[in-house]
Amino acid sequence: MESLFRWGCERKCAMHELSLALSLLDEVGAAAAREGATRVASVHLRLGRMSGVVRDALLFAWDLARADTIASDATLVIDEVPVAVWCAHCAGERSVRAGEGLICAQCGAVTPTIVRGRELELVAMEVL
Ligand SMILES: [Zn+2]
Repeated sequence: MESLFRWGCERKCAMHELSLALSLLDEVGAAAAREGATRVASVHLRLGRMSGVVRDALLFAWDLARADTIASDATLVIDEVPVAVWCAHCAGERSVRAGEGLICAQCGAVTPTIVRGRELELVAMEVL
């Protein structure tokens, strides 16, 4: 049962990344058309660790989705953004403890205010 459930989840997650890759390609295609570009060489994306997007799944989906588009051989470069929180307890922007949820790495307080790590932004693309 458990393995079936997990398989279902992985499938669903991969679908999520695929639809994301397709919408990124739409955006890239529109931007390339505005620039009068004929080919896209690379696309740069900022991806927060808490964006809910699995990096490897997105890269895999990108390879599938880019075929027959202006970006058919464009590399997707993913810049991963670590999670940062505002800690009210020690009054500062802090990183979080690995694998422990939203806990200030500095003082150990629970810090629900996320300041970085949820982004999913197209930052640049290289066109030819
Ligand atoms: Zn703190």
